[in-house]
Amino acid sequence: MRPSDPVAIITGAAGGIGAAVARRLSLDGFGVAVLDLQEAACRPVVESIEQAGGRAIAVGADVADEDAVARAVETVAERLGAPSVLVNNAGVIRDNLLFKMSLDQWQQVMAVHLQGAFLMSRATQRHMVELGWGRIVNLSSTSALGNRGQSNYASAKAGLQGFTKTLAIELGRFGITVNAVAPGFIATEMTRHTADQLGMTFEEFKASAAERIPVGRVGQPDDVAATVSFFARDEASFVSGQVLYLAGGPRA
Ligand code: NAD
Repeated sequence: MRPSDPVAIITGAAGGIGAAVARRLSLDGFGVAVLDLQEAACRPVVESIEQAGGRAIAVGADVADEDAVARAVETVAERLGAPSVLVNNAGVIRDNLLFKMSLDQWQQVMAVHLQGAFLMSRATQRHMVELGWGRIVNLSSTSALGNRGQSNYASAKAGLQGFTKTLAIELGRFGITVNAVAPGFIATEMTRHTADQLGMTFEEFKASAAERIPVGRVGQPDDVAATVSFFARDEASFVSGQVLYLAGGPRA
């Protein structure tokens, strides 16, 4: 059974999808650690959760930094309680065509998505194993299936799917499930930045994306939050190692 006073860590939660997931897990009864690069940037999300009656703390850490991750997870355990849910959501894009992509662009994306998820999961699983209950949810993407200009990001997001399935096998016996959400177009700063790069307004970019999506709209952060909420439930204890494509239709 889910522990009493359960605690969730959401990385990259100062805005976008992570902030929506943090708010949703708070409504689901979790104390929430809102983790992002800068602690100050997390405070508005913490305040909105507290105003709604929830319990939250802001934590500043770079998920790609081993020492910072260790400190962050221990801070959460001391101030909120042992974490039993981890949402590996922190992410960056450094898009470029292969022939122009720098090693730095490749490595930055790998460091945040893959190394970040690895370090955060390794540091957090100890608490979940002790509790005998845990949920890890990784943010993959439809880009895992291939996307022009995103060889770094697509590789990282496909890698996260292998990571998800392997952790599901290793951690299942401890009552821990591990799943991934692979969203298509979600309206956040990340997609706004892509619109800028393409020389389109965000409204034009969303409208053109919506034309190709069967449900006729782009996704919102709350769409992802609802999916994470499902994976984090007690009732989802037999769902593990899965990748749920969340794209308003069957294809990316
Ligand atoms: P966003 O840019 O709005 O938010 C990402 C957050 O991650 C930011 O607050 C940023 O500060 C934080 N972050 C970046 N590097 C970090 C690091 N090293 N340590 C800690 N925090 C760090 O992006 P978003 O659209 O909300 O995306 C969230 C996740 O969902 C990402 O993993 C992204 O790849 C994935 N995703 C997004 C979309 C989309 O269409 N927006 C689609 C599929 C997958």
